[in-house]
Amino acid sequence: MKALVAVKRVVDYNVKVRVKNDGTGVDIANVKMSMNPFDEIAVEEAVRLKEKGVVTEIIAVSCGDAKCQETLRTAMAIGADRGILVETDAELQPLAVAKLLKALVDKEQPQLIILGKQAIDDDANQTGQMLAALADLPQATFASKVEIEGDKASVTREVDGGLETISISLPAVITTDLRLNEPRYVTLPNIMKAKKKQLDVFKPDDLGVDVAPRLKTLKVAEPPKRGAGIKVPDVATLVDKLRNEAKVI
Ligand code: AMP
Repeated sequence: MKALVAVKRVVDYNVKVRVKNDGTGVDIANVKMSMNPFDEIAVEEAVRLKEKGVVTEIIAVSCGDAKCQETLRTAMAIGADRGILVETDAELQPLAVAKLLKALVDKEQPQLIILGKQAIDDDANQTGQMLAALADLPQATFASKVEIEGDKASVTREVDGGLETISISLPAVITTDLRLNEPRYVTLPNIMKAKKKQLDVFKPDDLGVDVAPRLKTLKVAEPPKRGAGIKVPDVATLVDKLRNEAKVI
């Protein structure tokens, strides 16, 4: 069974991003970029399924500029067999990525399509759901456990206040939650091996997809600065302030 895994290049999760002075976005010049953490979990899950003999080939896909090749090489160092870069310098919104992935799903016919539940840069949490709708496939989002039995997948999902287990028929789209697995460290020999793996490059036009943005960002702003705390002399003052100043009780 083929697995297709989507990996996005994002600002590293350790970086404290700064909003540009003109409020048009965040400043990513000279900032460390890495694979979206949920996508590392997606690749790891595909590799574990391959190690169990369920999956036979893993294809990693990234959409974005030429530097996304680094992200694909990381995916291949974790264990993906080959990579596909859909190269464009255009701003890609979730709908455009979903359309590009749909075109690749049509081309590659994978049984399993694994994405992260969300990209930590735009926090959209949309691409997997949009892809499932466009490709008319079942979806299991926020997966914390995946078991494949024949042409079905049993997926445990993290929902508010508990877990839900659903059964879906394959091919299907699965999006990963944090507790699905802990991705392995990439080793130097595997980084070297990944350099020799196949990496194909397409342009959105080759896939017949118009990636023009449909949404316009009006403004990006920092969260308001937190004011300094104060000490209150007694409980009565605290209750009074909570009731009359903060208005929370
Ligand atoms: P989002 O809907 O933007 O929060 O992203 C959800 C998931 O879609 C990510 O975790 C990735 O698996 C996938 N994805 C989003 N954008 C891209 C991209 N440019 N290239 C590859 N995969 C992507």
